[in-house]
Amino acid sequence: MKREKREIIYSIVILIMVPLLMVGNTLLFYSSVRKLYNEDIRRKADLLNSVMAEVLRSDIKANNADLIKQKLGSIKKQQPEMIHLAVYVQKDNTINSLAWSDDLDEHVSSATSLQVQIVFEKKQAVAKFEKIETSHGVTQVWTVTSPLIDQTTNKVVAVVGSSMSTADSDELIASILNMPLIFGIVSVVVVMALLFRHLRFVEYARLLARQREINQTMNDFLSVATHELKAPTTIIKGYIANAMDDSSNPLAESTRQQLGVALAQTDRLNALVQDLLNVSRIEQGRVEYHLQMVKIADVLSPIIQSYQLIAKEKNITINYQADRSLMVYADAGRVQEIFTNLIDNAVKYSTHGTVDIKHQVNGQLVSTIVRDTGIGMSTEQRKRLFQRFYRVQDEQTKNIGGTGLGLWIIKQYVENMNGTIEVDSMAGVGSQFTVNLPLAK
Ligand code: ADP
Repeated sequence: MKREKREIIYSIVILIMVPLLMVGNTLLFYSSVRKLYNEDIRRKADLLNSVMAEVLRSDIKANNADLIKQKLGSIKKQQPEMIHLAVYVQKDNTINSLAWSDDLDEHVSSATSLQVQIVFEKKQAVAKFEKIETSHGVTQVWTVTSPLIDQTTNKVVAVVGSSMSTADSDELIASILNMPLIFGIVSVVVVMALLFRHLRFVEYARLLARQREINQTMNDFLSVATHELKAPTTIIKGYIANAMDDSSNPLAESTRQQLGVALAQTDRLNALVQDLLNVSRIEQGRVEYHLQMVKIADVLSPIIQSYQLIAKEKNITINYQADRSLMVYADAGRVQEIFTNLIDNAVKYSTHGTVDIKHQVNGQLVSTIVRDTGIGMSTEQRKRLFQRFYRVQDEQTKNIGGTGLGLWIIKQYVENMNGTIEVDSMAGVGSQFTVNLPLAK
């Protein structure tokens, strides 16, 4: 089973077990406390019975039912949890009430009769936990029946019974347990929330791993495909160039033109392959940066030189204010790629006008500004400019070839050489790219 799957199952088990254990624990605690309190009530009723039996001994002997009834009534009044008090006697094997504390009639229920009978026989107290009907409704009580023994004959002369309600103690337990219960519920909610978060993290981690896998596969494919594409395009380009240059076999003008188009398209394909290769290298961290002191004008001048012809054909003037003393701390090869791309774009996305290139020193940085008077772009388009494969799609750009990778690539280069790249542009007015690289002294 996969690790993530195991983790999800584990989290679900915890998610079910933790609340169950917490609820179980609270219930167990509640029933233990309740049992303890109930035991206490039973003992209390037993004790009260013994005391009552002694107090009523002479009255019982004298069969003074009215007086006993009076006394039972006043005892009951002083004990709010006392529901019922009674004194039972046995005559001709039948249990009768001699006196009782309240308006309940003197009829003895068969259950009570049986309980009292046992006391008469066993000569010891018997307790019973039961539900009884009172004027306030049904209540749970301990009905304890205790014997009154004649010391001389050692016989049970009467049985004293009392029913004590557990309602007050139940209320007390509930109020005591309120806080831990609330705390328990809050804890369960917090634990559940944390676990849910954990589950989501597990899911994120899984997705991240999957995404990495996909990225890796994509990079591997890109790497292999571009390498495989590079070789045939170079060969095709070579053959076309040879055919065009072959003076021993001059070509017809139309053939020359067609081969010219084929050569341009091969160049385009080569540029695309090169861009994809660069992306693949960047993604895999395989780009090497040999940082050293580089005279930036020495890198820029040849690039500008190489673009003069294309610029002239488009009626564009390239002005370069070279500063031969300025040095940047960078990789010369990457710097060349960065400015080739920027100047290429400046010429490519202009129909006429000028491309101005200059340097400025800003503290520890050398800013190189490439400014054109080309088609420019809107604020929305500018925001997405450095995204991979992003190209402005409109009437003006639809016939201009490109991959949308150049700016993304050079941004990675600049940032990996501790620099930054900024853009400012306005549709119909032009664009300005500023590359800031560390100044070398
Ligand atoms: P490509 O030029 O191959 O499409 P880039 O990453 O170099 O890719 O440029 C991305 C997009 O940014 C271009 O397609 C173009 O729409 C826009 N762009 C870049 N440079 C300029 C510029 N100097 N003027 C106007 N638009 C530009």
